[in-house]
Amino acid sequence: MNLETEKPGHPSDFLRKSTMGVAVTALIFLTPFAINNFFQGRLILGSGSLAIVFVLAANAWSTSRGRYHPVFALSIVPFTLFFLVIAFLKQGIIGALWCYPAVIAFYFMVPEKMARLSNAVILCVALPMAWFVLDFPLAARVAATLLAVSTFSAIFVRVITSQQRQLREQAVTDTLTGLSNRVLLGTSLEQAIEQHHRTNAVMTVVALDLDHFKSVNDTFGHDAGDSVLQGVGDLLRKRVRRSDRVFRLGGEEFLVLLYGTDLENGRLFAEELRKAIESQPILPGQAVTASLGVATLRAGEDWNAWMKRSDENLYRAKESGRNCVIA
Ligand code: GH3
Ligand code: MG
Ligand code: MG
Repeated sequence: MNLETEKPGHPSDFLRKSTMGVAVTALIFLTPFAINNFFQGRLILGSGSLAIVFVLAANAWSTSRGRYHPVFALSIVPFTLFFLVIAFLKQGIIGALWCYPAVIAFYFMVPEKMARLSNAVILCVALPMAWFVLDFPLAARVAATLLAVSTFSAIFVRVITSQQRQLREQAVTDTLTGLSNRVLLGTSLEQAIEQHHRTNAVMTVVALDLDHFKSVNDTFGHDAGDSVLQGVGDLLRKRVRRSDRVFRLGGEEFLVLLYGTDLENGRLFAEELRKAIESQPILPGQAVTASLGVATLRAGEDWNAWMKRSDENLYRAKESGRNCVIA
């Protein structure tokens, strides 16, 4: 699964694979029908079905390259609609049968909202046509089954999509604190570096490690240690701005990414954090303290080197007697 956050204009992992599946299926199953239509002298139907195969292949190609090409994605609906109308008018119930794969296939070819809209368009055209072209008993059954297939497809894709979102969310979240875990750390720091290159905004990271945490566990028990980690997590979450990111890197180590913050302000922020942790009554009769290392992104630096400098400052804070900030 692609764990990076989805960006508008970029196809989801689901769509990247499903467009390819639909294109290959269409190539295998639709091409013989298209060729048969040509042999039978049905030139419009033959050209229509070949055009659909071409558009599906083009859509799959552009989606697999990580971008929707609106021309391909948007032309699927009118092409399919045109093909269905001709098939319906020329072949009656035999033509109507193509509506079933079409309403399902939209969910595998275009983004979910667009697929729902396309389904509505197809139904708005196909249902009146069924009444117009077919006898009433057949038209009623085509309408009922087409609505059922369209609704089931919508429900199926909704469930899959929300489960995928949940799994992605779980994979990047630390279960104990609810903060981000380190899965997206590299991506987030790289994004901050890109933003720095684009806008010249200063970026600062603060590495934080609780002091003598092992003795907290040894003295108060592992559950109390967990509560301390949750308390520190809550405190960090409350103190950062919406644009900043907080990670629990593992154990009792955290990292805060401060957007648009220079070294001096990063140091002040870290100092406030240090004081807040020290003064928070997390453990009965004993203060919890933390050491912090601050580093501001330097020109030409990659995220590993940047983080390493904050770690080195954190190490120096430990060396200097703990419960302090080094920037
Ligand atoms: P220092 O001041 O040098 O950082 O010492 P420390 O004791 O904090 O550091 P050390 O790395 O020796 O110990 C970290 C401890 O954190 C050891 C481990 O048992 C504990 N720990 C790691 N993950 C968890 C967790 O999820 N819950 C709890 N309760 N403890 C954890
Ligand atoms: Mg520690
Ligand atoms: Mg540690």
